[in-house]
Amino acid sequence: MRIAFLGVKGSGKGTYASRLSPILKIPHISTGDIFREIIAKETPLGKKVKEIVNKGKFVSDDIVLEILKERLKNSDCKNGFILDGVPRTVEQAKGLEKLEKLDIVICLDVPEDIIVKRISSRITCKKCGEIYNLLNMKPEREGICDKCGGKLYQRKDDTPESARQRLKEDEENLKPLIDYYKEKGILRIVSCNEFNSPPEDTVNKILEILGDLK
Ligand code: AMP
Repeated sequence: MRIAFLGVKGSGKGTYASRLSPILKIPHISTGDIFREIIAKETPLGKKVKEIVNKGKFVSDDIVLEILKERLKNSDCKNGFILDGVPRTVEQAKGLEKLEKLDIVICLDVPEDIIVKRISSRITCKKCGEIYNLLNMKPEREGICDKCGGKLYQRKDDTPESARQRLKEDEENLKPLIDYYKEKGILRIVSCNEFNSPPEDTVNKILEILGDLK
């Protein structure tokens, strides 16, 4: 099963992808996480990427596709994968198509007030990138990642002001991608209107959709 998630920042792509990955036994591939790893290595590419990411800009399609190409070659992708945060442009979607054909693209539809509330209460693990939410997805021990014991922190761009600003930009960027995959007939929209509903509810909704595909 080759799956891609579309959605604005804070729509839950990473949360659902990381939960679906062990259930479906396919890797969760987040380009944001890959870029954070590259940045941490402080190589020339890492420094270049850091500058772009810190400005809130998109990394170039060439770099994204090159990184994706390498990642998809890995043997853990032989039965499929879940893409999170990629493609982000139609150019990336076209490039990806040359590498792999997606079975389904799931677009998460979440109201603005939920996104803003969610983003401003979210914390991320410095070590493994796992995301928690202080309102409805708390770690067991305060400030410590349940998965790897890493330190949890609030990302610089996880504030209500930057969330609202990003949301508008993200929606603009998403439109052409939604149209692209609608045209291909592989787009499914999943609505998440309840702030307090546990992530498992949406995961189950997605599993039902995937089950219908088989
Ligand atoms: P994310 O964790 O998905 O929000 O990604 C963090 C940052 O990495 C983004 O703000 C972009 O600067 C960069 N990035 C991640 N994925 C992509 C992509 N597919 N295309 C361009 N830039 C990306």
